[in-house]
Amino acid sequence: AVPPEGVSAWVTIDLDAISDNVRELARRSPGAEVMAVVKADAYGHGLVHSARAAVAGGASWLAVAQLTEALELRAAGVTTRALTWLYAPGADFGAAIDADLDISVAAPWALDAVAAAARERGRAARIHLKVDTGLARNGALGQGWTDLIAAVGPVAAEGAVEVIGVWSHFALADAPQHPTVLAQRELFVEAAAELERAGIRPQFRHLANSAATLTNPDAHFDIVRPGLAVYGLSPVPDLGAPEDFGLREAMRVTARLALVKHALAGQGVSYGHTYTTTQDTTLGLVPVGYADGIPRHAGSLGPVQVDGQRFTIAGRVCMDQFVLDLGPTYAGAAGDEVVILGRGADGEPTAQDWAAAIGTINYEIVTRISGRLPRILV
Ligand code: PLP
Repeated sequence: AVPPEGVSAWVTIDLDAISDNVRELARRSPGAEVMAVVKADAYGHGLVHSARAAVAGGASWLAVAQLTEALELRAAGVTTRALTWLYAPGADFGAAIDADLDISVAAPWALDAVAAAARERGRAARIHLKVDTGLARNGALGQGWTDLIAAVGPVAAEGAVEVIGVWSHFALADAPQHPTVLAQRELFVEAAAELERAGIRPQFRHLANSAATLTNPDAHFDIVRPGLAVYGLSPVPDLGAPEDFGLREAMRVTARLALVKHALAGQGVSYGHTYTTTQDTTLGLVPVGYADGIPRHAGSLGPVQVDGQRFTIAGRVCMDQFVLDLGPTYAGAAGDEVVILGRGADGEPTAQDWAAAIGTINYEIVTRISGRLPRILV
């Protein structure tokens, strides 16, 4: 895809890759529906178009953390069932009910607030009860789960809420053999059984994120809930690259060299002179920086590709730019394309390469690519 005239750095989003990835995830989870997680601006890929691409690939559900993200989907005309789960007291549950959203409930205060908004509207709120099976993050834990079930009974009987789902989230899904994974699954089954003994039988049980969708069929239940894999990234890089799971990366980050110049040996490069040229060489200026989501601590670590060849960032990443030492024989010029993030199967630097280089996870690399870089949809 050709970027708009005058644009020096851009992000290409391959919508067909998103649709195909969802198709692949659905194929790997027969009997389960796919809930595509599109929170955090679809992991940096762009909320609405990514959601639509996921639905085109067969996702029958969408999921976002924040209510505002879910409302943004509805405002854009996306009517697919959508679950939202992260809010604090004062959240506008009335708006969520009006927008036909599914709301996660993990605590009695939330149940009360959701039920109050539902009563005001004279219609039942659709809720998914979240049980904490070991992540110790969101979800009702231990006696809290028993208490939540007891509180839900009368509210459901009254018709203020309809319990659509019961759900939980793994702590170590990326280590499928870890005993905690098995223990959490067992606790989840038991939590759903406890709910059933109280006479509440939700249609949907869901537990599996991307890693569990790809590696743990026992955890698929009625809906799988992948995020990262939807965008073609591997949640288990030690076990396989995207292509090993039939996935392909949807995001590509590209820039054009803004300046190419000769420098002598011994030249300190960028703020702090943390890099010094060791020979007479050619420096290239890449007009992308930490304000665009390139981690500042990727200085002297981040991998990029110019003309099919790999380079590491020379010196510090600045707010809007970084420098490459292209070597003494570089014959290119300003305007040459720099691939910052691309497809591993094509030999390009990947989000996982960046993550490994700077000590983080591929999730963080893609979600931090900022909105300042224009998105080009292909
Ligand atoms: N479910 C919940 C509750 C999440 O917070 C997330 C993302 O962190 C996901 C599912 C999707 O996880 P992943 O991107 O690993 O597939």
